[in-house]
Amino acid sequence: MMRRTYRIAVLPGDGIGPEVIDVTVDVLRAVQKSVNSLNLEFIYGEAGYNCIEKYGTNLPQKTIDILKRAHACLKGPMTTPEEPGAPPSVAVTIRKIFNLYANVRPCKSLPGVWSLKPDINLIIVRENTECLYFGKEYEVAPGRGVALRVITREASERVARVAFRLAERRKHHLTCVHKRNILRITDGIFRDAVFAVSREFPSVYVDEDHVDAMAMRLIKEPEHFDVIVTTNLYGDILSDEAAQITGGIGLAPGANIGDDYGMFEPVHGSAPKHAGKNKANPIATILAAKIMLDWLGEYEAAKRIEDAVEKVLSEGKIKTYDLGGKATTRDMGDAIIEKILKEE
Ligand code: NAD
Repeated sequence: MMRRTYRIAVLPGDGIGPEVIDVTVDVLRAVQKSVNSLNLEFIYGEAGYNCIEKYGTNLPQKTIDILKRAHACLKGPMTTPEEPGAPPSVAVTIRKIFNLYANVRPCKSLPGVWSLKPDINLIIVRENTECLYFGKEYEVAPGRGVALRVITREASERVARVAFRLAERRKHHLTCVHKRNILRITDGIFRDAVFAVSREFPSVYVDEDHVDAMAMRLIKEPEHFDVIVTTNLYGDILSDEAAQITGGIGLAPGANIGDDYGMFEPVHGSAPKHAGKNKANPIATILAAKIMLDWLGEYEAAKRIEDAVEKVLSEGKIKTYDLGGKATTRDMGDAIIEKILKEE
């Protein structure tokens, strides 16, 4: 049988990062055992706050070279340096180097875990390169600030295509979120770009909502939505809201996707107060690895991970502290691995 080989750059990161990444790589090794045609090669790289003293940067050149040799990156959480003159966050730097313009955040009710409604299953696709984040801010006079919000048709169309392709593989329903009634030019460009791209995807039904209405509807009727596409700032806020209605930050994965590269990471940060205690929930990182396999086209392997996570959660015997239990990071990983290997 032909084996499909993928090189995965693994960046364990800071705080709880090395613990959740360790367990996730073991989960990937287990899935590789159970899907014979899959061959994953892991190349480890140093990155994060822990590198600054040694290399003077949080993303050394030799790690960038490793990333460039890989098909995809599995990234652990990293502590963001805050001192004046410190380098920007590693996630931001990698997004820029590889032009990872779409941030994809799935939110799904999981069995045995509190969720606002039992049948939430949506994905937020957030434009990752412009809006207020990559514009400029100026203090034009003391106490008087101006921020530039940049929105282009080109960037809006390319993120829209990522969202439409996802919608095509799911329920054929895409919701465009904007605030065009107020920001008529910038959000007008975004909204019109999404509707222009919709002509390339005739099987997908598109509707639209203002961001304030969407913030409310995510609480009132989240089951109504499937794929949501929006600009950078709205997406940042809505995706954190969506993570909370489906069980919290220990379970939320994220992906950063470009035309030919993807970086996959948990949504949470390095949680320094839990570092080294074998306590953090590894599921967000394990589900990030699951989305990575989906993105690589390895749907069977991805499904095995998702099924194993859902089985462990629905049995409710192994729960980390954030889910109301006392299980360790390693216990959770081992339980998921056991389910994967049982399916062999
Ligand atoms: P955080 O997400 O690290 O932690 C907030 C709280 O959430 C923790 O104290 C913990 O109670 C809980 N938590 C987080 N992950 C968990 C897990 N896997 N299991 C169980 N509980 C979990 O947010 P923070 O404390 O604001 O940030 C810490 C550092 O991480 C900061 O330097 C921040 O900039 C950075 N950060 C990095 C990323 C990234 O690398 N992508 C993302 C967010 C924050």
